[in-house]
Amino acid sequence: MSSKDWLEKDFYAVLGVPKSATTDEVKKAYRKLARELHPDHNPGNTAAEDRFKAVSEAYDVLSDDKKRKEYDEMRSLFGSGAFRRGARSAGTGAGGFDLSDIFGDAAAQTASGDRRFSGAGFSDLFSSIFSGGGRTTTRRGPSRGRDVEAELVLDFRDAVGGATLPLTLRAPGVCDTCHGSGAKPGSMPRTCPVCHGAGLVTNNQGSFSFSEPCRECQGVGTIVDVKCPECHGTGGVTKTRTLNVRIPAGVADGQKIRLAGRGEPGARGGPPGDLFVSVKVRTDNLFGRTGDDLTLSVPITFPEAVNGVDLTVPTLDGSVTVRVPPGTPSGRTLRVRGKGVPRREGPAGDLLVTVEVVVPRDLSEAARKALQDYAQAAPPAPRQFIDRQVRHG
Ligand SMILES: [Zn+2]
Ligand SMILES: [Zn+2]
Repeated sequence: MSSKDWLEKDFYAVLGVPKSATTDEVKKAYRKLARELHPDHNPGNTAAEDRFKAVSEAYDVLSDDKKRKEYDEMRSLFGSGAFRRGARSAGTGAGGFDLSDIFGDAAAQTASGDRRFSGAGFSDLFSSIFSGGGRTTTRRGPSRGRDVEAELVLDFRDAVGGATLPLTLRAPGVCDTCHGSGAKPGSMPRTCPVCHGAGLVTNNQGSFSFSEPCRECQGVGTIVDVKCPECHGTGGVTKTRTLNVRIPAGVADGQKIRLAGRGEPGARGGPPGDLFVSVKVRTDNLFGRTGDDLTLSVPITFPEAVNGVDLTVPTLDGSVTVRVPPGTPSGRTLRVRGKGVPRREGPAGDLLVTVEVVVPRDLSEAARKALQDYAQAAPPAPRQFIDRQVRHG
């Protein structure tokens, strides 16, 4: 049964007892109704069956002092609209109490399975506010550690081939001097005299009541008289830790890697958060990258472009021979399969070799002479069409 059900159902009306009924009166009313409505006495009567269930449900809550108290408080709060008012004052009130604490912890409590009510959403908030029982409030349940974001700058080749690298993180941690209590060693935080450790106080205003964080202890439930010199009473310090992060082969610039469970440790036995590493990849002075393909630019001479050549080109592991066929124009790209970036699944990308004919600026006398001879002997450039345009224009 969810707490929402509690808000919608009037268990007193179901049992036909006044709100002031004693436990004995509740019991008596239940026994009478249960006898009348019992399915054995009403075969095939679904209306009676439904009422029998409703009566049992009502009895289950009203016969239990603790449940009945929570039920009463919840209904008086919701009925007056004070819930909204209480929530707003919790969010903005003095003392730096953050409403998200409640939601966050309620969510963590859901994960731990340690809940008093079934149901979800705002009913958990209600159970937080109406803890009443001091130390057992949901705010003190296990909570998951926060996720941590970090950036790692990688060499191009480490990104392509994968690597294990140290990553230094600065993150909040529990103070070792006071073990998180915030009190100077040898002293103890005392229970807050105002809220008796609950961290919340209930205010009664006329016909309704609402809870808000205790101002005396700022919602913590305890008061530190002599502060820990290390953390100045906060219980937390910034800690530096170094992790060895395994970077999988093939990561690209800007990619995020999630390392489950390597974030901040959880509180009170909760699970740790995750670590998200944003990868920045340095450029390489030789290779470029397009997706999973590596790119490489190789200069060749004009005779090599004309006659063809076998080029020895570097790869990330060793070198390969690339045959440039005769008559290859400048700017042509030749593909070397499987010599690119490894993929997690399937074959690696390719190495794309782009040949570029270099035009020399300084030539030896012999070379210049040979080039003039070549110019005499070579066919002219195919510019006839352009020449005609110039003449007639
Ligand atoms: Zn400390
Ligand atoms: Zn307090």
